[in-house]
Amino acid sequence: MSLAEKATKIAGELEYSPEQVREGVKEFLRLMDDGLQNDERDMTMIPTYVTNVPNGTEKGVYLAVDLGGTNFRVCSVVLNGDTTFTLTQSKVAIPKALMVSDSHSLFSFLAKQVADFVNEHHSDHFSEDPEHHLHLGFTFSFPVDQKAINKGYLIRWTKGFDIPDAIGKDVCALLQKEIDALGLPVKVAALVNDTVGTLMARSYTSPGKAGTLLGAIFGTGTNGAYVEKLDRVTKMTSASAKDVGEYDTSTGEMVVNTEWGSFDNALNVLPDSPYDRALDQNSVNPGIQMFEKRVSGMFLGEILRNAILSMKEDAGLFATSAIAEDSILNTPWSIDTSLLSYIEADSTKDFSVTKEQLQKDLGISASTISNDEAQAVKTLVHAIGKRSARLSAVPIAAIVIATGKLSPPDQPLIDGLNLKDLSLVEQGIEILKSVITGISLAAPSVNAPPPSIQDEPIDIGVDGSVVEFYPGFEKYVREALRDVPEFGERGEKRIRMGVAKDGSGVGAALIALAAKMQYS
Ligand code: ADP
Repeated sequence: MSLAEKATKIAGELEYSPEQVREGVKEFLRLMDDGLQNDERDMTMIPTYVTNVPNGTEKGVYLAVDLGGTNFRVCSVVLNGDTTFTLTQSKVAIPKALMVSDSHSLFSFLAKQVADFVNEHHSDHFSEDPEHHLHLGFTFSFPVDQKAINKGYLIRWTKGFDIPDAIGKDVCALLQKEIDALGLPVKVAALVNDTVGTLMARSYTSPGKAGTLLGAIFGTGTNGAYVEKLDRVTKMTSASAKDVGEYDTSTGEMVVNTEWGSFDNALNVLPDSPYDRALDQNSVNPGIQMFEKRVSGMFLGEILRNAILSMKEDAGLFATSAIAEDSILNTPWSIDTSLLSYIEADSTKDFSVTKEQLQKDLGISASTISNDEAQAVKTLVHAIGKRSARLSAVPIAAIVIATGKLSPPDQPLIDGLNLKDLSLVEQGIEILKSVITGISLAAPSVNAPPPSIQDEPIDIGVDGSVVEFYPGFEKYVREALRDVPEFGERGEKRIRMGVAKDGSGVGAALIALAAKMQYS
């Protein structure tokens, strides 16, 4: 098989058709409902106890800390109340020995970093009066069983941490205890998931006062949190719900952390190519996080590696290049997803960027790579990146549909006729017009409902290197949204997507503020 034929074949295997997008959205809607009603589902739909999103007018000074994988970040955020903020931060690497120690050793180290930071930047806050204590949002990126906005019990450690005595404990209380031992004027006010931070940060900074619907991360992993109606979160609100902490019901809403990385682990609707199967079998958690394994940065490089190996075997790719046994190409999980972004961005006629990048990242001498080979790799990259983006449209579309953002509200407009009825009447008129005069269905109607309602933007905050840097990612997400009948072009245009930087800083600060409001 020629290189071009093989590349086209692989690209075909990675195609994610409009029909598949539609099936994906249907299945996502089904699993969302299931997760909102029942505990212990793959897509967990975790209630976060955050019941309000900011509108940009919030004010005050808050602390935020972030225990992710390798670093511990402490920052203070001044919210200016006009959608702007200033952020001061410090960052330390977590000593490896503390990752496998006991909870006192780890949390006293964290408290010490908070103390150093407060002493340096907020010595003016030292006051006996708890009213004047600094409120802190704690971004903790490990699985917890959240029972209140400021209470979450550690389920298990991941990412190389192993501190057995912390399991089953409330991590906010562990941090508060060590902070109190140092006599700091700091209250651990909120436990924060990074997707919720993204949602809050975007809602504070985004233009307009409607509030952000969804915060979505496409980085190392992928996940999203959105604003749901409380009465749909029946596993929390129904009479039979058990083990639910206190929360504020006044807004009638709750932010839900979907954990959509594990959407369709059963592979009912997700595409499954030989390159996906090889990746999954080689992974530490086969059969788990199946959506994430097709979408996020941790995996796209490995899908590319598997596809390149197949092309090498079947079509003699890089046959004239010297590739060592222990090269990157032969080492699982070693291709960084940034390689895909560089290759996708290459618009040179002689593929010079692609060749240089293959030399730099894979150690294949650029001068030995033919134009046909570079073109073939570029075809694979494009197919993998585009599929990731089109898949990313599935949760976005499903959440927008589930929350009713596309349908006009059921408010009477004129004498018992509401906007939904009007839009049906309008469609009927358009069909008649097209039959009679051949006028296009898409032609704007003079009777269209007021643009302020049906064209209102639906705001989405995104974060992560894949959505930020992969060329055309948003464009392909939008193309796939247009493939969903409920959206079409008009619905797609209403989606306003913007990068929300610093979810674990400003987002955590905003959640600390929300918590302060709830408990004061
Ligand atoms: P995190 O999700 O860990 O907070 P990032 O959002 O930076 O951090 O995501 C890191 C992931 O993004 C890694 O898997 C990396 O391979 C991938 N990545 C880094 N740079 C790029 C890029 N330029 N284009 C696409 N993916 C990238």
